[in-house]
Amino acid sequence: MHLMNSIYAGLPNTIFDVMSNLARELNAVNLGQGFPDDPGPEDVRRKAADEVLNGWNQYPPMMGLPILRQAIADHFNRFQNLGLDPMTETMVTSGATEAIADSILAVVEPGDEVVLFQPMYDAYLPLVQRAGGVPKFVNLRPPHWDFTREDLEKAFSTKTRAIVFNNPHNPCGVIYSREQLALLAEFCVKFDVIAICDEVWEHLIFDGKSHIPLMAMPGMRGRTIKVSSAGKIFSLTGWKIGMVMAAPEIMRVVAKAHQFTTFTTAPNLQSAVALGLGKDDDYFRTMRASFQRSRDRFCARMTELGFSVMPSEGTYFVTVDIAPLGEADDAEFCQRLVREYGVAAIPVSAFYAQDPVKTVVRFCFAKKDETLDAALAKLEKLAARQRSEVA
Ligand code: GLN
Repeated sequence: MHLMNSIYAGLPNTIFDVMSNLARELNAVNLGQGFPDDPGPEDVRRKAADEVLNGWNQYPPMMGLPILRQAIADHFNRFQNLGLDPMTETMVTSGATEAIADSILAVVEPGDEVVLFQPMYDAYLPLVQRAGGVPKFVNLRPPHWDFTREDLEKAFSTKTRAIVFNNPHNPCGVIYSREQLALLAEFCVKFDVIAICDEVWEHLIFDGKSHIPLMAMPGMRGRTIKVSSAGKIFSLTGWKIGMVMAAPEIMRVVAKAHQFTTFTTAPNLQSAVALGLGKDDDYFRTMRASFQRSRDRFCARMTELGFSVMPSEGTYFVTVDIAPLGEADDAEFCQRLVREYGVAAIPVSAFYAQDPVKTVVRFCFAKKDETLDAALAKLEKLAARQRSEVA
């Protein structure tokens, strides 16, 4: 395919689509791609339907509907005290992945180094490479997937233009502490770097933990592009409504990338998300409690079955260490799991470009009890088979 761009021509299909297709084909329980069973808040969905029938269905403004931009600023000022100005510091995109793509395109020039933290969401690296960026990897250290000062010293240089950082972290399900964020901020300031911070899981945090936006760390307000996702907040992943927050001089340039990527986003969905973001604190507490309950149900039973479950502090995901099962290849394990046992999961090695951890598998627990129980019954068969092989 010498006529096509070599970066895209050389890419495999994204693991999310591969596993969801396998799940459909094999009629397996899909705990792979991260989407909840929950249909999302009815008032928000009704508002979207009503706006299609009775509202404006022509191009909305490029930056997003004013009502949604106001709601974004109000929402994140309420929960994270960011002091955002709606008209100069917020923008609506067609999904958080578009927001990340716009940010990378707006920041990175050919030859610039970009620090990426592995395991990383699979879109980051190809987007950086397509922008001509040179990736510098930090390998997060299990089980808490932290990084050290030495790790950052090795990755940052005078050529570093940007970092792409994800917190709370997919696929690992961890939340970064103030100390880790302060260390990262120190390097961003010292090397004069833009931080593209993917915070799409910020509302999906458990056990009373709190999320600290990187933008709120000292020296970061004017150099952070914060990316959020209404799909994740409202269990409406197919809507693809991303939100970007950044200082005006950064936002102006990110908006130029957005205007020639998707330009704008369905207006009915924007109105509906504006309604959702205005919900009272109780809504968000209840939503969290419900996902936490599903996490606990899944993890408790997995632990009973003898799986080595790693802690999940946030996101829709929990990871399982398969090394104690005598497994050495997560990709091969996930193929066997879906084909022989009927459960789709995601091998974490798919989130690495080099030196992967190959014995960790990600499960999505954001499901109805009956979906989780159906998967657990199948996983029980695998656990029993493992036990009899060891015996
Ligand atoms: N964010 C979702 C996940 O991690 C997948 C998104 C996608 O399929 N593009 O599972």
